[in-house]
Amino acid sequence: MTTRLDDLPLRDDLRGLVPYGAPQAALPVALNVNENTHPIPSEVADDILDGVARALRDVNRYPDREFTALREAFADYLGHGLSAAQIWAANGSNEVLQHVLQAFAGPGRTAFGFAPTYSMYPLLTRATGATWLAGTRESDFTVSAESAAAQVAETGPDVVFLCAPNNPTGTPMTLDVIEAVYDVAPGIVIVDEAYQEFAPRDERSALSLLPGRERLIVSRTMSKAFAFAGARVGYLAADPAVVDALRLVRLPYHLSALTQAAALGALAHAPTMLAMVDEIVSQRDRISATVSALGYEPHESWTNFVLFGGVPDPAATWQALYDRGVLIRDVGIPHALRVTAGTAEETTAFLDALASVGSRA
Ligand SMILES: *Cc1c(COP(=O)(O)O)cnc(C)c1O
Repeated sequence: MTTRLDDLPLRDDLRGLVPYGAPQAALPVALNVNENTHPIPSEVADDILDGVARALRDVNRYPDREFTALREAFADYLGHGLSAAQIWAANGSNEVLQHVLQAFAGPGRTAFGFAPTYSMYPLLTRATGATWLAGTRESDFTVSAESAAAQVAETGPDVVFLCAPNNPTGTPMTLDVIEAVYDVAPGIVIVDEAYQEFAPRDERSALSLLPGRERLIVSRTMSKAFAFAGARVGYLAADPAVVDALRLVRLPYHLSALTQAAALGALAHAPTMLAMVDEIVSQRDRISATVSALGYEPHESWTNFVLFGGVPDPAATWQALYDRGVLIRDVGIPHALRVTAGTAEETTAFLDALASVGSRA
């Protein structure tokens, strides 16, 4: 007889939960989890390998627990006058967000976000023992400063997640919304800028709001624009006191010496690593224009993906694309599907497959 979860002495608050599970199918065209599908340029890969090789010689010792060189490199990359004391990093921004919840939410507390938003927020919230509260957006997935502030004032959450721009919808969030939410929030406000590098160049980052706002956190990741999803590196900028709070909950030596070396190597080549961003943005805009011409309704996107509505039967269209070797994502939004902008060839394969499926799938 096989053991089921219910047979185990599992925490009561974990019973009935479902783990994160984006399909990892080996299809020729994988455009389902917003990865950067462009591989790392080989001259950068060589440099990263040299750094990792040097780190390997000292791997009998624990790594720099404070990852000082890496924090300095992130401060340099982000600009805005930030210093290393304001930077934190972990194994993917998912772990960064987990640290924030462990320090500022946890049992008996609440975390809040405007749904639909990143599916990991409720999972991380519940896994750390806190309660998830879902707010609402307009039908076009925007949220105004007035509505956002009113919802946060009414629920009074310990942690507010603002996904800017938002996953899975691509929707931009303007700084006035962030300021309005911060002014009424009793606790931490975390702006998740996982896709910031894909936003229009002249748009200001929430990093510009940090001075004087000690409860504001801005998180970033190397997984998307930096083509580093497999290396697992995320980071944040905040008041140095917030960083001190995160030191209370992290595991000692949580960032391995190899991870630190790889991330430093990639950051030293930031302009080359980010060279593909403009190309990806042009493929994203090509997806929006073409799906629109096919009769679907793309939502405005400042990210590396497009959510398009007007899909009569998303499960059937998803399957028809799958059968043609193209993996995209059904994020559970009625009559909509999400596709990541890939290389020009991958994007063409997706658009051709979608055209051959027809909107009446
Ligand atoms: C992809 C993504 C992340 C990044 O997660 P990592 O753990 O850094 O790979 C964070 N937030 C959002 C909204 C994302 O879409």
